[in-house]
Amino acid sequence: MSSASVVPRGRAAVTFAARLTFEAVERRYGDGMALRGVSLDIAPGEVVCLLGPSGCGKTTLLRIASGIEKPSRGRVLINDAEVAGPNRFVPPEERSVGLMFQDFALFPHLDVLDNVAFGLRALPREEARREALAILARVGLEGFAHEQPNTLSGGQQQRVALARAIVPRPAVMLMDEPFSGLDVQLRDSMQEETLALLRETRATSLIVTHHPEEAMRLGDRIAVMRGGHLVKLGTAEDLYRHPGELFIARMFSEINEVPYKVSKGAIATPIGNVPAPGLAEGDTAILCIRERGIVLRVPSAEGAEGGLAGRVLDVKFLGAVALLEVGIEGFDAPLRVRAREIEGWRKGAEVRVTIDTERVLVFASSGAETL
Ligand code: ATP
Repeated sequence: MSSASVVPRGRAAVTFAARLTFEAVERRYGDGMALRGVSLDIAPGEVVCLLGPSGCGKTTLLRIASGIEKPSRGRVLINDAEVAGPNRFVPPEERSVGLMFQDFALFPHLDVLDNVAFGLRALPREEARREALAILARVGLEGFAHEQPNTLSGGQQQRVALARAIVPRPAVMLMDEPFSGLDVQLRDSMQEETLALLRETRATSLIVTHHPEEAMRLGDRIAVMRGGHLVKLGTAEDLYRHPGELFIARMFSEINEVPYKVSKGAIATPIGNVPAPGLAEGDTAILCIRERGIVLRVPSAEGAEGGLAGRVLDVKFLGAVALLEVGIEGFDAPLRVRAREIEGWRKGAEVRVTIDTERVLVFASSGAETL
């Protein structure tokens, strides 16, 4: 173990899980700020997904964790020891971090085995190759050890990259859009396999993604970034139920947005008065209704009496779910509704519509959720 290492460097079967902490991290590029004071504490063995629009600073935060970049201000700590900050800078190779990129970055001139063994350069060659073979077996690629990377499929290359990153048993795994190069079906199974391997090794993991569903699937918690800020941190369920901001609500479910003027701290809607606390008289509030939060019934059905009258204006079949446009009494414009396809809704059908007021969200026109 090098004197500068902050976690025991091991090749043991299980990683020494490490805490990864960002304290008010800033990163300036010329006049621009890529990160504006990001604080985030990731528990040992936890998987956190970084989610946010293009250019919000996700990759920069990952690069700072790895040591490829330095913060302009603030600190990064691994197991409470500073690895980047005013007092100390620990280079990437001494941080016990594993890195995996979107393009996999395999060495084209090395075969699969040597690509994986590259992560174990510190070991005697035979031992490194033995360990590399063991991890290749773990990801189901032992039969490809002597192939060149460019002869493998996208999914196989992804497994090689994963094996190479994980074989030194890094305490922290940093992954930058690791699945975006894969087609949708493959992505599904690779997400499962990758998560299983991360859990098995107990590596603390930070995964950058553009896809909310991927973040919900992989992350113990999700950190949502925008404009260099970390704007929200929570479990998938927290973020879904209490998004806090309109742009986060839009990320996590399909919604209808209907503007209303605030009067006496509430908005008067066809489903009753909905509180809009914190907004001034005459402000605009946006009522958000989830497309899946609207229940349609045939008028004669049980429970349909209390609903609003509506008519199906359009139906699109999306497999198990149908996307409907429904004109509803009291609403100026039709609402989109996602319903089970099996219900067999037809264009022109009369329906009764129920919207649960407990499940709607109200935002200020600035996008902030009213509390
Ligand atoms: P994407 O999802 O598109 O990869 P991101 O959220 O990962 O985006 P970053 O790559 O971290 O965003 O970039 C954040 C901001 O910092 C962007 O405005 C980007 O242009 C800027 N930036 C990043 N790296 C550099 C650099 N080396 N020099 C100058 N500006 C940079």
